[in-house]
Amino acid sequence: MKQDNNIPYKIYLEEQEMPREWYNVRADMKNKPAPLLNPGTLKPMTAEELAPVFCEELVTQELDNDNAYIPIPEEILDFYKMYRPSPLVRAYCLEEKLQTPAKIYYKFEGNNTSGSHKLNSAIAQAYYAKKQGLKGVTTETGAGQWGTALSMACSYFDLDCQVYMVKCSYEQKPFRREVMRTYGAKVTPSPSMNTEVGKKILAEHPGTSGSLGCAISEAVEQATTHEGYRYVLGSVLNQVLLHQSIIGLETKAALDKYNIKPDIIIGCAGGGSNLGGLISPFMGEKLRGEADYRFIAVEPASCPSLTRGKYAYDFCDTGMVCPLAKMYTLGSGFIPSANHAGGLRYHGMSSILSQLYADGLMEARSVEQTEVFKAAEEFARVEGILPAPESSHAIKAALDEAKKCKETGEEKTIVFGLTGTGYFDMYAYESFHDGKMVDYIPTDEDLAPGFAGLPKVE
Ligand SMILES: *Cc1c(COP(=O)(O)O)cnc(C)c1O
Repeated sequence: MKQDNNIPYKIYLEEQEMPREWYNVRADMKNKPAPLLNPGTLKPMTAEELAPVFCEELVTQELDNDNAYIPIPEEILDFYKMYRPSPLVRAYCLEEKLQTPAKIYYKFEGNNTSGSHKLNSAIAQAYYAKKQGLKGVTTETGAGQWGTALSMACSYFDLDCQVYMVKCSYEQKPFRREVMRTYGAKVTPSPSMNTEVGKKILAEHPGTSGSLGCAISEAVEQATTHEGYRYVLGSVLNQVLLHQSIIGLETKAALDKYNIKPDIIIGCAGGGSNLGGLISPFMGEKLRGEADYRFIAVEPASCPSLTRGKYAYDFCDTGMVCPLAKMYTLGSGFIPSANHAGGLRYHGMSSILSQLYADGLMEARSVEQTEVFKAAEEFARVEGILPAPESSHAIKAALDEAKKCKETGEEKTIVFGLTGTGYFDMYAYESFHDGKMVDYIPTDEDLAPGFAGLPKVE
């Protein structure tokens, strides 16, 4: 295999090179992301209004549009040391296989037991809950990665962890459920009869396989009706993108170390946390006029929030108990088809990424799932890692860009986020191998009811 003499196969940072602060891209955004609104008054949510739902320190982070750097507490740095830095890998084998002049790098976040980048924010959120003296936290999980990450983080800080797991995943993915229970979490399939909102959703949609939006409503209700509990969310929120900036900061430090300038940075987009975290420091440079990059968000054709959604205020959850967020959305009533990339089945998108996309600073594209699994397999066969279906959306776009370089002869440098491993997604791989996987793309008529249900704001 050809290998660039100067560039290691894997770039790891030394301990003293590790970021000690998160980067808050909002500080450099001229057009700030729209604030969360109180659904009753339609006024921006204040810290006092958010305090019953979220931990104090996280509320501060959520509302902070001004401070560019936020110190990472020592306790969190200590935990990060257990699995970070994550490697930035030069995909030499993939380049050779594709015979592309492009240089491809991926930042691999699957190197921890939870199997994804979600642990980066889970540990931060658990830390702040512990620091506030809470008993525990509640949350939802789709495919199970967030619940797994949070249960690991909670057991580290000895916090109670209650997880509402989207019912279809609870049934399809018993292994993730059991990993969560191994770390001491209580896992409930959602919608459930535990909460008022769960009962209501079940009455309206009997036999529903659930959605992230439903599970969020249940977890929020569970937290706000029990003393000593707060709700935590694994994506979408500003605070989560802030914590995930560790991915981008490490990537940038590793690239800078070898004087590598990426041309294209690609990530899959569910709620936008890994993509937001990966691109943040690079986007900061672009916003400050110091450098230029292309950023590409990749989403499933079955749940196309950015590429076919409306930029509007919407509920973050199906039960309409959460604040309103302005984002590209398919409507909180939209229940996507049972795509295998559970982590990408969310109706909305981070307000930060939505604003950047609206301002033309980022591109987006949607891909069909059989194409995604083809890309996953192509990648696994040469690079060794068995990727998560979510991550494989980014692989698909990276392959497409590298193939374009082959046609044009351009030596572009492509960086993509490989957010996790797919060992718990083997039913999805099975359905792909057996030729049973279908590409469901909603029609405009399918999307219409979700849009019709958008709250009237502005
Ligand atoms: C949750 C998840 C995603 C999508 O979430 P974002 O918040 O958009 O990053 C992507 N990949 C994996 C492996 C995940 O677990």
